[in-house]
Amino acid sequence: MALTFTGGIDLPKFAFSELKRIKKYDDPPYTVTDFSQERDMEFIPSVSEGDAVARYMQTGELVYKGDAVPVYSGVSGVVREYLRDRNGAVCGMVTDTDGAGRQTELHGYSGTLEELTPEILTDLIKRAGITCRGAKRFAYKKIIDANNNTERFFLNCCESEPGVSSRKALLYEDTEAVLNGAKLLMRALDVRRCEIVIEKNSGEILQKLKSLTRRDPLFDVRRVKPKYPQDEEFSVICAVSGVRLSDAAKPERSKCTVFDAETASAVFRAVAFGIPQCERVVTVDTENVLCPIGTPISDLVTFAGITFDSARHIIAGGIMRGRALKSSDEPVSSETDAVTVVYHGDGRRIPEMTECTRCGKCVSVCPSRIMPYYLAELSRKKKYSLCKQYGAAACTECGCCDYVCPSYIPVKKLISAAKQKLPEDVSE
Ligand code: SF4
Ligand code: SF4
Repeated sequence: MALTFTGGIDLPKFAFSELKRIKKYDDPPYTVTDFSQERDMEFIPSVSEGDAVARYMQTGELVYKGDAVPVYSGVSGVVREYLRDRNGAVCGMVTDTDGAGRQTELHGYSGTLEELTPEILTDLIKRAGITCRGAKRFAYKKIIDANNNTERFFLNCCESEPGVSSRKALLYEDTEAVLNGAKLLMRALDVRRCEIVIEKNSGEILQKLKSLTRRDPLFDVRRVKPKYPQDEEFSVICAVSGVRLSDAAKPERSKCTVFDAETASAVFRAVAFGIPQCERVVTVDTENVLCPIGTPISDLVTFAGITFDSARHIIAGGIMRGRALKSSDEPVSSETDAVTVVYHGDGRRIPEMTECTRCGKCVSVCPSRIMPYYLAELSRKKKYSLCKQYGAAACTECGCCDYVCPSYIPVKKLISAAKQKLPEDVSE
């Protein structure tokens, strides 16, 4: 029987036949690196306006509490201008692609496997600027925090949302890189086994993973029910280990560590070939495109063959968690797994919001095990201390509550607004 987590929504069957192969988009006209939203981090550029840069060349670093993580260019081009925040500090840059195809010389790890200690590996992962989801933001930080506290390691191969297939496309085309990256992560975490977590209806991809790992004692494949949001860290942990993290518990409390397939692939590329993280696969409508991080979404959409006339809205992300773009020039970030196009004539009119009937549907689907209707009400009354007390911070903004609410209450939006205003200390 397939494993699953508490709460969530059943998804329509994943159709392997609909999985589009990855197209490469190497040269968008320009890229935008923008760290203005990074709280407590400072971007220090190492190149000046007008400088020529090469693909994979370091262009600066992100400094956080004295720790610096390098930032790389995904294109060959010329730095057009710095971006500045409201205080005038540099927070990013715009690079015009020049089509010259300059690429920095790369060097993978050249030592022996025995010499590749967790410390060396963690440092290589840090120097490649590899990100991961969640509060840790960078993979090396998560490894450091999880070290000596990991009993089970899960490789998350579940897709993030209905309609998004970027992870499956990467898995299918780069299976060996993902599995080799998982082995390196095991070494960094000092664990002896990796449990691959994937939806049971993943067709040919599931078969491929099974046949590649059948005789390998390092891997187990765990099939989970195709439910949304199965790809959340706590959903993976709950489904496979049975540990249901309370609203206040951090994933580390379970002694389980979860890394996504993309992170594993990036780790392998960094260690084996010295390739830093500066590109990612994005599902654009029904296409999967590998593009430099910083590619303007407008160019990515055009590359995928979609005309703006036919689109009503462009959403960064999927239909459940995505957000409408303020401008189509917003760039692809390391976390953009999809761009969803809403066409004219799609969808239906949303009926007027009515009173909460206390039907409890939002509570039964909430994977964070909080009380969405109550938190929404507290948010409306601006009782933010109570919002904190009742676990608003645990809301992952998955949108399951909105999806099932028969009264069309924007529960997620209300809780999200409260999360921005939670007090540091609860005195009530
Ligand atoms: S959006 Fe938040 S409150 Fe609503 S179901 Fe998801 S985690 Fe629960
Ligand atoms: S699903 Fe909607 S109506 Fe039902 S309890 Fe939750 S907020 Fe209220």
